[in-house]
Amino acid sequence: MDCISVFDMLKIGVGPSSSHTLGPWRAAEAFLKELEAASIFDKISRVRVDLYGSLSLTGKGHATDYAVMLGLSGADPEYIPIDDISSIINTINEKEQLNFGNKFLVNFNPKSDIVFNREFLPFHANGLTFTAYYESEEYSSTFYSIGGGFFTKEDDLSSSSDITCAFPFLFNTSTELLAFCDQENKTISEIMFENEKTIRTEDEISYELKRIWETMLECMYIGCHTEGILPGGLNVKRRAFEMHNNLKGSTPYSTPQEWITSIRKTKVYFRQILKWVSCFALAVNEVNASLGRVVTAPTNGSAGVIPAVLMYYLVIENHKGGQKEIEQFLTTAGVIGSIFKKGATISAAMGGCQAEIGVSSAMAAAALCELMGGSPAQVTIAAEIAMEHHLGLTCDPIGGLVQIPCIERNAMGAIKAINAAELALDTDPLTVKVPLDKVVNTMWETAKDMNNKYKETSEGGLAVAVNIADC
Ligand code: SF4
Repeated sequence: MDCISVFDMLKIGVGPSSSHTLGPWRAAEAFLKELEAASIFDKISRVRVDLYGSLSLTGKGHATDYAVMLGLSGADPEYIPIDDISSIINTINEKEQLNFGNKFLVNFNPKSDIVFNREFLPFHANGLTFTAYYESEEYSSTFYSIGGGFFTKEDDLSSSSDITCAFPFLFNTSTELLAFCDQENKTISEIMFENEKTIRTEDEISYELKRIWETMLECMYIGCHTEGILPGGLNVKRRAFEMHNNLKGSTPYSTPQEWITSIRKTKVYFRQILKWVSCFALAVNEVNASLGRVVTAPTNGSAGVIPAVLMYYLVIENHKGGQKEIEQFLTTAGVIGSIFKKGATISAAMGGCQAEIGVSSAMAAAALCELMGGSPAQVTIAAEIAMEHHLGLTCDPIGGLVQIPCIERNAMGAIKAINAAELALDTDPLTVKVPLDKVVNTMWETAKDMNNKYKETSEGGLAVAVNIADC
């Protein structure tokens, strides 16, 4: 039984894609470690990367080429200063050399040493092979980016999580989870908190959850205060800036925390609530699309849903909400995400956008429902409702960029999550016809039936209906 931590589902990284940016980046880091373990790291003189399947078809738009170069350069996606990214990439392009593991220069011409192979490897849609050359030898290793920043190798079916599993409450399904809640008389977040305590101290858990929230908040703040056009050639205008200008009140602020206080003082009716939630979600995904720092939740393409719904709770529903509620929200969201990862997928290359926006909406709906006083059964109903109305959602990003339909889709996912939480709060669990486990299974079956054109290949849907040259 997989042991997935909340911190596996919510990871701090760099946009625009968890499967196409964060996963390949982490795989490159793992490749460096393999070379060290084989005692050949210091001998390497050249390196090459082969991208396969979806990583090849949408890798340019999703910055997979940047990710592997940064990973091979020893940069950490969680901590690299965002402003350093373009200078590192420019230097590699100009010098045709790469600072291998941040230790010494090796030959690397991005034009010929990153190969975009259109074919798919049989094991998974997102394959990549690193080859390092030394003396007259070479060492190759193939990895698969399986969504949400996770990666694996064919002979290692466990996740890339470093955790040795000692969770007291092991579950794969929501039925098993609810049985623990019942048995222990605990909420879903309390059950998961007990699990997390086997990995980190209570202080560490609080510290890390705070760091995740602060990254989400800063991301919304930056997105709401940055105007202009997104990179990539689609000429997509950033919309959060103008929306925010129209919504914000007159209370001055100079920090993200003061910003929350100022929003709480604005007058909100239904329309303003819709606009605020949409604005928060757009802001995050505009930052994501410009290779900014975001929290993968559970993916980068869907990174705006969870912060937007949590922000909704803090600025609209509960003005006294703080660290305790933030921790509860993020923990519940993480648990629900892990159930989808175990029973279905969080990879668009495997399941289309239902695996990204659908899962993030289900996570947010469940977390909001728990904060609003829902029982554990109602929390799972909220997740079920949110996913039920994303089933079959395809992934067809125009130009392979995580912009259209991705950015708006986060706003839709956030609004659906709030609606799903409200519906669940008014639902008697005994009358439910579709339990969460059934919808997880249905999502997976739908994923398997979905044509490859709609699985992050940009070979179907909007991606072919709209020509990038017309944008
Ligand atoms: S369409 Fe959905 S799944 Fe595909 S890249 Fe955009 S957000 Fe991700």
